Amino acid sequence: MTLNRRDFIGTTAAAASLLSAPMVQGASHGRSKVVVVGGGAGGATAARYIAKDSKGEIDVTLVEPTRSYYTCFFSNLYIGGFRDIESLAHSYGTLASDYGVNVVHDWAVGIDRDAKTVTLAGGSVLPYDRLVLSPGIDFVDGAVEGWDLSAQNAMPHAYKGGSQTELLKAQIMAMPEGGTFAMVAPPNPYRCPPGPYERVSMVAHLLKANNPTAKIIVADPKAKFSKMALFQEGWGTHYTGMIDWIGEDFGGGNVSVNPDAMTVTIDGEETKVDVCNVIPAQKAGRICEMAGVTDGNWAPVSGHTMQSRLDENIHVLGDATNQGDMPKSGFSANSQAKVAAMAIRGALTGSSVFPAKFSNTCWSLIDTEDGVKVGATYEATDEKIAKVDGFISQTGESGELRKVTYEESLGWYDGITSDMFG
Ligand SMILES: Cc1cc2nc3c(=O)[nH]c(=O)nc-3n(C[C@H](O)[C@H](O)[C@H](O)COP(=O)(O)OP(=O)(O)OC[C@H]3O[C@@H](n4cnc5c(N)ncnc54)[C@H](O)[C@@H]3O)c2cc1C
Repeated sequence: MTLNRRDFIGTTAAAASLLSAPMVQGASHGRSKVVVVGGGAGGATAARYIAKDSKGEIDVTLVEPTRSYYTCFFSNLYIGGFRDIESLAHSYGTLASDYGVNVVHDWAVGIDRDAKTVTLAGGSVLPYDRLVLSPGIDFVDGAVEGWDLSAQNAMPHAYKGGSQTELLKAQIMAMPEGGTFAMVAPPNPYRCPPGPYERVSMVAHLLKANNPTAKIIVADPKAKFSKMALFQEGWGTHYTGMIDWIGEDFGGGNVSVNPDAMTVTIDGEETKVDVCNVIPAQKAGRICEMAGVTDGNWAPVSGHTMQSRLDENIHVLGDATNQGDMPKSGFSANSQAKVAAMAIRGALTGSSVFPAKFSNTCWSLIDTEDGVKVGATYEATDEKIAKVDGFISQTGESGELRKVTYEESLGWYDGITSDMFG
């Protein structure tokens, strides 16, 4: 059975059909070609698994502009002083040397879905049989009044890893005694649901040690957030009186900023601040829009294979997707990448494809060795990736259990980064 695009679009049963009847392609023009755009949690994992498991049968090219990938995961721990920045950096050398991935450091700037080619900023044109897009997030223009990318040095987002994270930490360290740190938190859905609140905890940890009379204000458009009870308990225990969280009920979503004057206006009240971390509303990385695989802000996919619901030859992974119940996390992107890699191998080489299963855990550090977690397992249905069962840390847990949870997260970091980069 061969599916054409019309059969595929809107046909939720299509992905299930693919599982039982893989399409073997590429035999007429040598090795099948897979191009992966984005070398982060989703893309690096997909490139590695396709190259490793196809044992040379598939030609894999990974397009990624940066030579060192700085993980967003654990970037908050760098802010808190628990990691150094080098420990977050990973190169693509092993993917090239040990797995035969053709790593191209460039930006994908155009996708021709009919010709099945990717054009790079440097001018090269790469043909593909299957394309994997895992470009992460970009920001919704105009999401925070007064802020755009030209203001990211004055008011950093630090929601992409690397220089922005270093800048935010440097600004916090330079705050005057008793100064004010403000965060503008994003609306749902966004990258790493507990991320802003782990960051608040880590900023508080840093300030408590260096500038204990400083204050933290969080303007939040949401009425509640991931692990809220756990964070609020921790803030009460470790950082008493330091953090003022202004949620939806108190106008936390009615915010504008002035990067020149360094002011934040929350529900009509203007405050002069010393550091302002603006985390705007998010959408799929722009290359998804350029490829025409978005519907609204995100790229809809089938959970069975991570194929775009708008183009059967494109698989979209990670934060860029509208996939169902999984949070936008590195763990999720890594888990989705393995499902996509198996489906792509099945389609291109006829290898076996098993039903998609996914898992995720998000750990957060609140204070030294005070780690908490939330997680779940998922399966693919024809409608979405659906949650099967989950778990969450409880308030009032012992210090010993929290320490064990933190130590688990250290093992996870080492595991996922070697799963991504080899
Ligand atoms: C503060 C913070 C803390 C976090 N903590 C955790 C955590 O503890 N656990 C967890 O699981 N997750 C965490 N996350 C979330 C995690 O970082 C993301 O969910 C994950 O990185 C998503 O993977 P991805 O592959 O979709 O995107 P990314 O990992 O962002 O990778 C996207 C890559 O695509 C590249 N790219 C973009 N556009 C193009 C283009 N046009 N051409 C070529 N390349 C392109 C980018 O350079 C980038 O390297 C955290 C995030 C933040 C911000």
